[in-house]
Amino acid sequence: MSEGFSRRGLFGAGAAAATILAGVPAASASAAPRGTSQMTLRWWGNNGWEIRVGTKTILIDPWLTRFKTGTYTPAGADPRTPLSVNKELIDGYLDRGFLHADHILVTHGHYDHLTDVPYLAQRTGATVIGTETHLSLMAALGAPEDQLAIASGGEDLTFDGYSIRILRSLHSAVGARAQVPFPGSRPLSRRDRPRVISDLLEGGTLAYCVTGGGASVVNFGGSNYVESELAGLRPDVVLLPVGGAKVTQYVPRLLRTLGNPRMVAATHWDDFDLPLGQAQDPNGGLEVLRKVVAAASPGSEFVVLDHLGSFVP
Ligand SMILES: [Zn+2]
Repeated sequence: MSEGFSRRGLFGAGAAAATILAGVPAASASAAPRGTSQMTLRWWGNNGWEIRVGTKTILIDPWLTRFKTGTYTPAGADPRTPLSVNKELIDGYLDRGFLHADHILVTHGHYDHLTDVPYLAQRTGATVIGTETHLSLMAALGAPEDQLAIASGGEDLTFDGYSIRILRSLHSAVGARAQVPFPGSRPLSRRDRPRVISDLLEGGTLAYCVTGGGASVVNFGGSNYVESELAGLRPDVVLLPVGGAKVTQYVPRLLRTLGNPRMVAATHWDDFDLPLGQAQDPNGGLEVLRKVVAAASPGSEFVVLDHLGSFVP
């Protein structure tokens, strides 16, 4: 473990926020790399990423609330866990101007990706991209409907200062059957409000390639991908989830397909039953990923951040 982990636990969410809000960079688990692009990437825990290009901000799967589900216990997540949004925590970042969004990109419908997005959409006015199921869930949770943009994967869109390529993708394959947890879909017309975590269906999985400021970054919200969809992509950074044990050659095949990106940043590795500010690896997945990446693509820099840590590709 890098030395940053010995400091874990010293940074409660409040302390981390105060540190950031005072303009002092958060502690990083490894020395944050500084490339030459005009893009900044900040990790908000789980698969929550902030991509800043000039005055524009793109968020992926922002989930700051992080309520307890039991996901990392032997019994697993309790499907009847009620959904909740910590508006006070989110307001603390928004009201101080520390959190913005022009776009919010949703990879899939699960609670650890989608739950906070409707409130963040209300507060920021951001355009939200997701599949029909994701939009149905978010509309039912109060996301403003005129901000929702449906996608199916394959779109390549250009906005002021950045572009977003939406990639068909796959969710992590879990357990002996290589199954998707809480699988299923729902039509956009369905508006009954999700109450518990099992109401948040996967609804298809998207990956995203965001380009701007002289760099490009690909994010996967689950530990799987569609190889053919990635042909020809040459991102500077891949945000890579831990896991993927059931996926054939998960890391080597992906990095080869993407042309061995110069930076590989770990994502979705922290125990999200713990609050923001306490990034802990519950099962050693981070060190497994570090070794597999080093073996598969020795020229790639492996980046691990603490919550709210950032780097420049
Ligand atoms: Zn999921």
